[in-house]
Amino acid sequence: MRTVLLPGSFNPFTKGHADIVERALALFDRVVVAVGYNENKADLSGIDERLETIRRIYANEARVEVLSYSCLTVDVARQVDASAVLRGVRSFKDYEYEMQMADVNRQLTGLETVILFARPEYASISSSVVRELQHYGHDVTDFLP
Ligand code: ADP
Repeated sequence: MRTVLLPGSFNPFTKGHADIVERALALFDRVVVAVGYNENKADLSGIDERLETIRRIYANEARVEVLSYSCLTVDVARQVDASAVLRGVRSFKDYEYEMQMADVNRQLTGLETVILFARPEYASISSSVVRELQHYGHDVTDFLP
């Protein structure tokens, strides 16, 4: 049984994230979506709602698990027995960051990172843009699964 860990903040979980999960299900037996947070109050608020929203999306998909964590990615990967970390890349900017993180994680524990490139139609969706639109009362349903 091959498990892959998809760590992120998912604030909110977008169609781009959902696409990465769906494509990963063709490659792995189990996908663990891990919602990372810092233990300060600002970050804690809304974490339960975020978890619940993602769990509802995958209510009928037993191969997707959703949990929260506030430790190192390599530690949560070990806890869920993940063979690899999964990340999505939309641009060169993402690429540089992911390359560095993948390198650190591999050096720390040997944990490998699998990258899936964003579908062009989702490549400009980011949680921060969705948050900004929401803040100004814009309808964001097109961006959310
Ligand atoms: P983080 O704060 O760790 O970057 P995010 O929730 O923003 O967490 O993203 C989690 C992962 O999903 C990252 O690898 C990010 O590059 C990827 N991702 C974000 N948006 C998209 C998208 N539209 N298409 C594909 N991958 C995406």
